[in-house]
Amino acid sequence: AKDGGGNRYEVADPDSDARAIDRHSLTNHLPGALERDEFFLEYQPLIRMLDGRVDGAEALVRWRHPVHGRLGPDRFIPLAEHTGLIVPLGRWVLEQAVEQAYFWQRGLVEGDSAGAGREPLRVNVNLSPRQLHHPDLVPDTIAVLEAAGVSPESLCLEVTESALIGADEDELKPLRQLAELGVDIALDDFGTGYSNLANLRRLPATTLKLDRSFTQGLQQHPADPLDVTFVGGIVSLAHALGLRVTVEGVETEAQAQQLRELDCDTAQGWYYARPASPESIPAYWSPSD
Ligand code: C2E
Ligand code: CA
Ligand code: CA
Ligand code: CA
Repeated sequence: AKDGGGNRYEVADPDSDARAIDRHSLTNHLPGALERDEFFLEYQPLIRMLDGRVDGAEALVRWRHPVHGRLGPDRFIPLAEHTGLIVPLGRWVLEQAVEQAYFWQRGLVEGDSAGAGREPLRVNVNLSPRQLHHPDLVPDTIAVLEAAGVSPESLCLEVTESALIGADEDELKPLRQLAELGVDIALDDFGTGYSNLANLRRLPATTLKLDRSFTQGLQQHPADPLDVTFVGGIVSLAHALGLRVTVEGVETEAQAQQLRELDCDTAQGWYYARPASPESIPAYWSPSD
């Protein structure tokens, strides 16, 4: 049953039909989505394992699609990356997230009952490979921070490990410049990219974000000893190199405890909070301090 809205796909298999319409409608709507103001951000807190407090929040983009409703980034980021829309979209995300950091820090957010704000609250923003290689990355990032009145230390840029594999010194230069300014650089999805661990030393990263797949291995009781050894080893190595470790995808108390014992620095996952509106974040810091 179709609503007849110019649907040219009349195929027997409802699944492939849906997929075809989907692709068509995504490709058609994506270019104008930014101007139509259809994107929005959710934020997921990063929790310090030592004291359970909020360390920052990761901005995650969503698309309010005119036909399909709310879509997650896995549905449209690859397409945006392919078409190049990721560059203006990524800049929009950066602007929104940095402005949001300002509001949190100044206590200007609904839900911050103390109205006190939280000074060094950081915001994490995902960078796609295309943005990473864009010549304006450094000046744009500086401009966005200055316009919002937010310090570079309040921003963490997340770059996937795979985007940096094989990058030469010239390609790493923009990230190195940002790191020298005080911007945190996190290696996202760490452990999935098969990179040479020795390679870590030459990357301008300050944080490793250990991929969710490793957290999953700690879910069983007792946890898979190989996963425990692996995560423990990565944490030791990271700390020896002066890097902090964030773990993703923490869904249970057992995982959280195990990861705390393994000396991870910060954690993110449904166990603590799902991604939600910016107003949801103040509930995770205590108003008394
Ligand atoms: P990511 O950077 O690895 O982000 C973490 C993903 O894991 C998010 O999915 C988040 O909602 C999900 N997640 C968080 N906690 C848990 C948990 O406990 N269990 C499980 N199963 N999942 C959890 P989401 O929001 O669908 O984002 C997917 C990916 O899309 C992100 O993966 C990131 O690579 C990309 N993305 C999101 N926002 C942006 C953006 O603004 N720019 C770019 N370039 N990529 C983005
Ligand atoms: Ca990320
Ligand atoms: Ca990740
Ligand atoms: Ca991921």
